[in-house]
Amino acid sequence: MGRGQTPDPVLFRKEPVTLEDARALDATDPLAAYRDKFALPEDVIYLDGNSLGALPKATPAALADVATRQWGNRLIRSWNEGWIEAPQRIGAKIAPLIGAAPDEVIIGDTTSTHLFKALVAGLRSNPDRHTVISEAGNFPTDLHIAEGAVACVPGARLKVVARENLAAALDDDTAVLLLTHVHYKTSDRFDMAAWTARARDAGALMLWDLSHSVGAVPIDLNGANADLAVGCTYKYLNGGPGAPAFLYVAKRWQDALASPLSGWMGHAAPFAFEDTYRPALGMKRWLAGTPAMLSTGALETALDLWAGIDQHAVASKSAQLFDILAAAGDALGLDCVSPRDPAKRGSHISFRHPHAYEITQALIACGVIGDFRDPDILRLGLTPLYLSHEDVWRAGKILRDTVETESWRDPAYSQRLVVT
Ligand SMILES: *Cc1c(COP(=O)(O)O)cnc(C)c1O
Repeated sequence: MGRGQTPDPVLFRKEPVTLEDARALDATDPLAAYRDKFALPEDVIYLDGNSLGALPKATPAALADVATRQWGNRLIRSWNEGWIEAPQRIGAKIAPLIGAAPDEVIIGDTTSTHLFKALVAGLRSNPDRHTVISEAGNFPTDLHIAEGAVACVPGARLKVVARENLAAALDDDTAVLLLTHVHYKTSDRFDMAAWTARARDAGALMLWDLSHSVGAVPIDLNGANADLAVGCTYKYLNGGPGAPAFLYVAKRWQDALASPLSGWMGHAAPFAFEDTYRPALGMKRWLAGTPAMLSTGALETALDLWAGIDQHAVASKSAQLFDILAAAGDALGLDCVSPRDPAKRGSHISFRHPHAYEITQALIACGVIGDFRDPDILRLGLTPLYLSHEDVWRAGKILRDTVETESWRDPAYSQRLVVT
């Protein structure tokens, strides 16, 4: 998976991309064949796959198999026919996407729950340190869960500081530095290796939230020597709404840290039915309750699609798609808040505009589904597996028409713009 490399530098294209340019890029796109593996409505250009990934065509049949054959026919026997080890088996399928060893990742629960487990475990592992540091403006659940986690550990506290003050905030009381790799609003990406080194040099554990970067940019947790990571699977990984999330614990910590959610699935011998909790060795101890097999089945199907995909091809295409919309935004004089350097961002592009909400609604009415993030951000997700350059060019054209004609001012803007 090309660990340790950065995406190919793609120079920012200043000239507007023509429809012919976009089609020429599609003709040589190594990921072009993946588009047909997704069920997308014909009349939609879907620029929100960073929030809810599209449905893989293989998923409905896989779900039906879990329901009718595995559950309906095999009944409880299915636990011994692949269900019970699903969290580890599927974690191993995520591992190559994040630069982890197969036995360093499990799936289950939600990103929020994994964050809680990792934060409390991290705080308890070093009683001499009491502070969790995170970034102001981080994804809300990360800060909310951190608030709840410090409340569970006597003496612990949460320090939330602006990005430019993070480095100075690290000190010998810092237990965990919690950062989200790619920012959900701006698309800003932290340098994973540099920040992990900073946290570890300060004696703290580094906990990454990869929700907005997994499946979008190459990630190398082992290369960066990261301690802990969590991430979402229903965004770029297309696992389905509320799909089980993943947790990474570096091998060196797996048996040293303890999950505060000491449920039976994390017990060394769940079916010995002991009264007392004894944590399993390895990643199994991070499980809490029974895996949700219906949603797990959808996730596994989506991940099988990722097998063999070159993360650098994904990053290169993402950069190309970004340039198409960045050029459209430049032509309109829009304020692009996402970094121009592909190594410094994720796979979405955000524009700040006082009427971002109305523009988002007007675009949706025209079939271009992006989203609005409070207070003034128009956010457009670029998913290289199922968007063609032509799709993104068309979206750029509709954006231009919407902003230039100010059609968003018209409450009856549901009339479709025809783009040829
Ligand atoms: C999407 C996302 C989450 C989602 O958490 P849930 O527990 O699945 O609701 C968490 N953190 C970040 C940074 C995200 O982008």
